[in-house]
Amino acid sequence: GVANRTPLIAGNWKMNLDHLQAVAFVQKLHWTLKDAKHEDGSVEVAVFPPFTDIRSVQTLIDADKIPFALGAQDLSAHDSGAYTGEVSGAFLAKLDAKYVIIGHSERREYHSESDEVVASKVKAALKHGLVPVICVGETLAQREESGPTAVSIAQLETALGAVSASDDIVVAYEPVWAIGTGQVASPEQAQEVCSALRAVIAAKLGDEAAARTRILYGGSVKSANIASFMREPDVDGALVGGASLVVDEFAAIIRFEK
Ligand code: PGA
Repeated sequence: GVANRTPLIAGNWKMNLDHLQAVAFVQKLHWTLKDAKHEDGSVEVAVFPPFTDIRSVQTLIDADKIPFALGAQDLSAHDSGAYTGEVSGAFLAKLDAKYVIIGHSERREYHSESDEVVASKVKAALKHGLVPVICVGETLAQREESGPTAVSIAQLETALGAVSASDDIVVAYEPVWAIGTGQVASPEQAQEVCSALRAVIAAKLGDEAAARTRILYGGSVKSANIASFMREPDVDGALVGGASLVVDEFAAIIRFEK
């Protein structure tokens, strides 16, 4: 990434850690990171716990003045009403959530979320003052069939239909074949797609939005490979799954040196 975009290291816990484990984890991570560069704002850290943890983590972050941002892993496209099992962006905003992940490949695959559903959730997030972390990425079959950038570009174009130039968003490029597999993309592969995504933002929202929006790489990010991604000009951080559940490993990712 480049200097005028603050790097974002985001921990997507998925369906791991109950609220008691979450509180213990955040406390340990904070102690481990004492005096690390996130304390001075040069790197932003965000955690994305399950819904049931968010209130507990919010209370801890608030009481101990821990400089981590809070996010949710999904939200409803609706504001309120007869939608059993769903969670409104209004509720997340009330819990001081800053971010919400939208269109993660696991939601697209296991909950049949189409590009249109993703766009409607992006719209809901923005309406409630949340920053959507819009996830895009291709499967291995799609990469072989249509190349490295086509699927991500199409997914992002539809999602950006819900976004205006002044909105704050984050984009995460997560090749499906690299998620949870240990088969990490190369920094060059990540850069190729992230730069194509920045061009989509420029075309749809203008150059200023493209220059300011952070684009993350996700998929088997670890302390051993984070620096190689952060050296790429269009990679502004990471969306970390498995490695965000291990205190020392996630702390080492946050402490990356280019
Ligand atoms: P991983 O997951 O780091 O475990 O590959 C990343 C993600 O799904 O966000």
